[in-house]
Amino acid sequence: MYQNFKSHLETELTNIEQAGLYKNERIIVSPQGAVIRVGDGKEVLNFCANNYLGLSNHPALIEAAKKGMDTHGYGVSSVRFICGTQDIHKRLEASIAKFFGTEDTILYAACFDANGGVFEPLLNEDDAIISDSLNHASIIDGVRLCKAQRYRYANADMDDLENQLKTAQAQRFRLIVTDGVFSMDGNVAPLDKIYALAEKYNAMVMVDESHSAGVVGKTGRGVTERYNLRGKIEIITGTLGKAFGGAIGGFTTGKKEIIDLLRQRSRPYLFSNSIPPMVAAAGIRMFEMMDETNDSQDKLHENTSYFVERMIKAGFDVKPTESAICAVMLYDAKLSQDVATLLLDEGIYVIGFYFPVVPKGQARIRVQISAAHNREQLDKCIAAFTKVGKEMKVIITPNP
Ligand SMILES: *Cc1c(COP(=O)(O)O)cnc(C)c1O
Repeated sequence: MYQNFKSHLETELTNIEQAGLYKNERIIVSPQGAVIRVGDGKEVLNFCANNYLGLSNHPALIEAAKKGMDTHGYGVSSVRFICGTQDIHKRLEASIAKFFGTEDTILYAACFDANGGVFEPLLNEDDAIISDSLNHASIIDGVRLCKAQRYRYANADMDDLENQLKTAQAQRFRLIVTDGVFSMDGNVAPLDKIYALAEKYNAMVMVDESHSAGVVGKTGRGVTERYNLRGKIEIITGTLGKAFGGAIGGFTTGKKEIIDLLRQRSRPYLFSNSIPPMVAAAGIRMFEMMDETNDSQDKLHENTSYFVERMIKAGFDVKPTESAICAVMLYDAKLSQDVATLLLDEGIYVIGFYFPVVPKGQARIRVQISAAHNREQLDKCIAAFTKVGKEMKVIITPNP
């Protein structure tokens, strides 16, 4: 049997390779940070991590994680409802609720699981899920696991959302689902308008804050802060794997009854291990730090505006962003790969994205800014882009 299956897999892999879609993973031999050391010992500036607040290698979190291991051990060897709930898991859940201004929180091993386990327990075939067309894969998979009627609206298109809401009046309950920040463009979901439509058409709202938490809003409380909607959104999901230290872990936070029911029925919660004590302990410390100072958020916002302004001035076509994601548009797939390769030669690590990750003819380099970047590093990145941009003739306006 395996001989046949093996040749089937080999064909599949060859097809992926020939389509130019084979993903080769780059080996990093240092901690995550603004500067990383890659496999061959070379040091490069990293502009493709989700390390938005520069916390991935923060000494205070490492210390809290070590302490957490000393007091609570390495692992819990249990799901939450059997013997996997420690005091620190409950404290972390409370910290997350406080951060977002919500009523309660349930932890998962990842946000992929939070999204995978949120729809099916809450809604059934009598209900409707109305989902943005650019929502994250984990939302798409979560919706697939649920029997609710599915509606899709074009990215951030409020006319389309309104039309879908009108049709969805046929169902009992309606839930609008959106990413807070869309990962390929860096645009923020228009949550004020979504909320107004939800009120008008009697729907609930769920926001995935994975790319927006820690980033969007003056204090990084996410899109509900940005639009003054704290406490008003029924469901927020998010990850501890991006701005919040970047280790592992996800959560759903929101209305108390929703969280209660998820604890009873959400399958990735009931049938998967608790997050390690060190992650819970460092998470608690991380949310304390968010309350102590706004320095990282301020630095991130300052860095992002600086970078975007200078890149536009240098003649690049940068998509308008309200997050730490800056899409440098190149349109051509091969060009995006060539530019990324040349940038790496200049010591700048960025990734070029092309179809099917983004629409055909919309290839780009996604630059992710961090509070960990200093001015000199940002300047080095801009200078490298300018050099390579001139070489590859992708600069659209002359230097002013
Ligand atoms: C990264 C991401 C996830 C997955 O988060 P993990 O905790 O890594 O599983 C889910 N949703 C969105 C919008 C994301 O960007």
